[in-house]
Amino acid sequence: MCKYIFVTGGVCSSLGKGIAVASIGALLKASGQKVFTQKLDPYLNVDPGTMSPFQHGEVFVTDDGGETDLDLGHYERFIDTSLSKLSSVTTGKVYGEVLDKERQGDFLGRTIQIIPHITNAIKNKITEAAKKGKCDIMMVEIGGTVGDIEGLPYLEAIRQMRYEYGPENVFFIHLTLLPYLAASKELKTKPTQASVRELRSIGIQPDMILARADHPIKKEHLKKIALFCDVDEKYVIPAQTVGSIYEVPLNLQQYKITELIAKKLHLGRIKPDIKEWESVDKKIKAKKKPLRIALVGKYTGLDDAYLSVIESIKIACYHANRDPKIIWISSEKLEENDSKTWDQLKKADGMVVPGGFGVRGVEGKIMAAKYARENKIPYLGLCLGMQIMTIEFARHVLKNNKITSEEFDEKGKTTKDNYIIHFLPGQSITSDKGGTLRLGQYPCRLKKASRVGKLYGKSLIHERHRHRYEVNNKFIKPLEKSGMTFSGIYPKGNLVEIAEINDHPFMIGSQFHPEFKSRPNKPHPLFKGFIQAAK
Ligand code: GLN
Repeated sequence: MCKYIFVTGGVCSSLGKGIAVASIGALLKASGQKVFTQKLDPYLNVDPGTMSPFQHGEVFVTDDGGETDLDLGHYERFIDTSLSKLSSVTTGKVYGEVLDKERQGDFLGRTIQIIPHITNAIKNKITEAAKKGKCDIMMVEIGGTVGDIEGLPYLEAIRQMRYEYGPENVFFIHLTLLPYLAASKELKTKPTQASVRELRSIGIQPDMILARADHPIKKEHLKKIALFCDVDEKYVIPAQTVGSIYEVPLNLQQYKITELIAKKLHLGRIKPDIKEWESVDKKIKAKKKPLRIALVGKYTGLDDAYLSVIESIKIACYHANRDPKIIWISSEKLEENDSKTWDQLKKADGMVVPGGFGVRGVEGKIMAAKYARENKIPYLGLCLGMQIMTIEFARHVLKNNKITSEEFDEKGKTTKDNYIIHFLPGQSITSDKGGTLRLGQYPCRLKKASRVGKLYGKSLIHERHRHRYEVNNKFIKPLEKSGMTFSGIYPKGNLVEIAEINDHPFMIGSQFHPEFKSRPNKPHPLFKGFIQAAK
């Protein structure tokens, strides 16, 4: 039978619950367990697909086209596994399904209530994911903080699961904060005690407490938490903030976290093989020369909005023995010819133009692409970034400044024959929300002799998409004649997936999002090639 580990958060949000789940999952996987993960988000949106990256960070896409929370990106990167739509549950989704059933008369006229109908639906989501994930250990993160009203049905559901499956099959971890008081120079445990009291009042006794703090945690703090929260002292784990998220698995394993979990869940003797994590850690901590990578986008300064892109850049840099320095460049500022922003861009060793929607800031990105092409600065275009680079190149070689994407021509300023990027009905699929997008994993055939053919070292790859518009195939011939190679094609739809500029050290764009497939021990081939070129 599958065992469940539930992770709740206390005191406040943003403590790194996702990283904790990802790290423990990675350690259990390294101990030979088959791990699947799931995030339960108590908000009412059906999925994060329509939520603003300003508020909610990037939308992480799964192979099967799920538009999910960015924590799933951490889970995939750390555990090196492919998740699915089943890994992402929201209150909106759960209520939607229960209400649909009610309308269809499935409840035979009975009163529908949060307990048991919503809690049962939540339990079903958890057990269904565990079954389909065919795992030994199912790790489930409950979003939000204990004490939130909207989190209560989830806590009740997992409480019931512990009762139903028994303590040898269900393990509760509570992650909390020990705030630091500068005046008295001490960490406080009282908020943790209060949060655990809150958990216990709804019937959940944590098996393990991960105590987060920005300052050193002393034995006496751990003792105090153990005594007041009724948790074995060995199971109170200090989790002080570390320099890089990829240090967290090693940091937790110092306290033999897998062995502690194994004991309570009757997993027998397990021990993780942490060699790969140690090797990544060594690379991160090695002294390295900086490498400045410009990120030309809309949400400047907001790491979460481009989380997978940033992690992919960092990972590729660590493996190339360079210290990643991300330079945020606002494309709108470039458009306004802001000299400071241009100076910063000009200092970059390489630039990434990430994905995005809408026309805002697009001309600034085209200006950045032009600069990269003319000055032979390594350029990596991700989805929108590939469309931008294709538009810029076409404008240049075909001497036509009207060339654009259908998406950017909101006011109908030009004619259809200038749409080098256009909407192709029938190619985009209808997403869960009713909108049309090409979503999820698609195969792509690479031209052997192309640069990407060499980078990947194979001819058939699979990558993930989330976009509406496609390259207009009528432009392929004229552009290929002028020095561009369309080196990746989705064979069934005959759609362009990768564009390269031939006479350039590295100017490559992909219609897909390679950033979703980087792993700390395995930089993605496109990011690896890009960083090598920028070095
Ligand atoms: N807006 C573009 C499209 O829909 C690119 C999307 C993206 O970058 N994810 O095609």
